[in-house]
Amino acid sequence: MSDFESRLAATRSTLAKIATEYAPAVFASSLAAEDMVLTDLILKSQLNIGIFSLETGRLHAETLGMLDKIRTTYGTEILLYKPDPAAVDTYVQQHGLNAFYDSVELRKECCRIRKVEPLKRALTGKKAWITGQRRAQSATRTELAVQEDDAAHGMQKFNPLADWSEEDVWHYLRSNNVPYNPLHDKGYPSIGCEPCTRAIQPGEDIRAGRWWWENPESKECGLHVVDGKLVRIKQTD
Ligand code: SF4
Repeated sequence: MSDFESRLAATRSTLAKIATEYAPAVFASSLAAEDMVLTDLILKSQLNIGIFSLETGRLHAETLGMLDKIRTTYGTEILLYKPDPAAVDTYVQQHGLNAFYDSVELRKECCRIRKVEPLKRALTGKKAWITGQRRAQSATRTELAVQEDDAAHGMQKFNPLADWSEEDVWHYLRSNNVPYNPLHDKGYPSIGCEPCTRAIQPGEDIRAGRWWWENPESKECGLHVVDGKLVRIKQTD
């Protein structure tokens, strides 16, 4: 068995374990390349794992187009969680529509309203959640484990692709004809909200196009934050 096949077998086994031992479990898909690998694995094996996406209101048209591609390819609707409209209105009135460029605090507050709070709603009542994060993606993810104790949300968090390389992801997508966000072919290896994501140049870090005006250490959504600080999540497996 090649190294890639071993990693794929381990990922299949992790997903099967989550579906049987951690129900109800959900997969938080950002509709990017890694997330399409997990979407394909979950839906083709008909695993008992719900799939949702955070519709922040600031996504690219290409990212939203992935919802249609998933529907036509798999016959499945991805559940969408949206921000509280009143919280968005208050932020925009007080700070401006694009105030996230002005300071890290205002950027994190926008992420809190548009991502963190909707995520909390999506995870309510669940035993575990899944992400498509990989260790090689950024300076903030070098110690990412396949299974973590997510104290902030009071449940287990699984990152079944933690040890996958970018090549692994694209090998899987291409050899299984999995649809993917066309922005990946236009210099976007990592895709978030439209105003906070730019294309990168060859040789630049994978996450260099995300919140590019900030230091690498602050480049997370706050989805793993307790009391306003990024926390290291304890490894349990
Ligand atoms: S990525 Fe940008 S637009 Fe999206 S929630 Fe965070 S700060 Fe707001």
